[in-house]
Amino acid sequence: MKTILITGGAGFIGSHVVREFVLKYPEVKIVNLDALTYAGNLENLKDIEDKENYEFVKADIVDAKHILEVFEQYQPEGVIHLAAESHVDRSITNPLDFVMTNVIGTVNLLNAAKHIWKDNFEGKRFHHVSTDEVFGALGDTGFFTEETSYDPHSPYSASKASSDHFVRAYHDTYGLPIVMTNCSNNYGPNHFPEKLIPLCIHNIINNKPLPIYGDGKYTRDWLFVIDHAKAIDLVFHEGENGGSYNVGGFNEWKNIDLVKELCKQMDEKLGREVGTSEQLITFVKDRPGHDLRYAIDASKINKELGWKPSVTFEQGLSKTIDWFLENQEWLDNVTSGDYQKYYQKQYN
Ligand code: NAD
Repeated sequence: MKTILITGGAGFIGSHVVREFVLKYPEVKIVNLDALTYAGNLENLKDIEDKENYEFVKADIVDAKHILEVFEQYQPEGVIHLAAESHVDRSITNPLDFVMTNVIGTVNLLNAAKHIWKDNFEGKRFHHVSTDEVFGALGDTGFFTEETSYDPHSPYSASKASSDHFVRAYHDTYGLPIVMTNCSNNYGPNHFPEKLIPLCIHNIINNKPLPIYGDGKYTRDWLFVIDHAKAIDLVFHEGENGGSYNVGGFNEWKNIDLVKELCKQMDEKLGREVGTSEQLITFVKDRPGHDLRYAIDASKINKELGWKPSVTFEQGLSKTIDWFLENQEWLDNVTSGDYQKYYQKQYN
């Protein structure tokens, strides 16, 4: 049986990628390698954990020796790498964690793949999942393309940019077969509530303030997470060796407008008078080094591989809210304990 190893599969995006692969490729063994940090949650995979082609391995990608043992044991032909420290605010308070996991961890995985594949790269592939934040900030116009120069501003984006460079360097230096995707902001089920959309859903349910950085004019492109998982599947299987692909929703929103749209949908779903939740909006002190606007030009993946988002933002947001309302226990579980301490420190 062919084996694909997916790192970070217990996290937000990784869990959707694992589910997509386990269900779509029953003839392929999917090994989910995850350290289960605060962001990793095996509850995200409850529905597929008993599938015969699925296996979970607890391992920290910073631990080079253990990672090599896992690779030697499972001999994966493919690697899809999503494990990362992923939250910009945490990178501002703790940059070294981001260097360790995002940079050293990625190099450990590249070394392990290079070691077990030796020089026989036939049928092998290392897919690195990255972010549009490596490109820096845009003004009011323009888009990031695959040719845009890197210009990261936060410790998070600097660590992801560094990992991207290492992945390309292993392709150029050793011939390692790689592909890369740089995606815009994701949203959807299983999203950890330190990020804008699930945080606001959680706070609206609990009648708590909705913290918006600065004047709320920061602009991001948003993509429904299942569409990202499908793009990863496509690029992993059909992307050009050594190529990178930008993935985005063709869907830009200023934070303040997005939160107002969310408030409107939440009021309707909760049977509250429209306008009620908007009153919870509270502007908070800006994040240092905050990039004004990110916007993705996803025309390469569209033209070359035929990918495009399957849902509109309004549809995706509606599905997301419904999921959180139906899974309040999940939300309660992840917002207890350490999350509470982090939240108090961040916003009070
Ligand atoms: P997440 O924080 O929800 O999940 C990260 C997962 O990685 C968790 O399961 C965690 O336990 C695991 N992990 C962390 N450190 C680890 C380590 N040292 N060893 C093994 N596992 C470890 O992140 P996410 O939002 O799902 O992002 C996944 C990937 O996609 C990241 O590489 C991120 O940079 C990238 N990305 C995210 C977005 C987004 O909007 N969330 C957009 C573009 C790209």
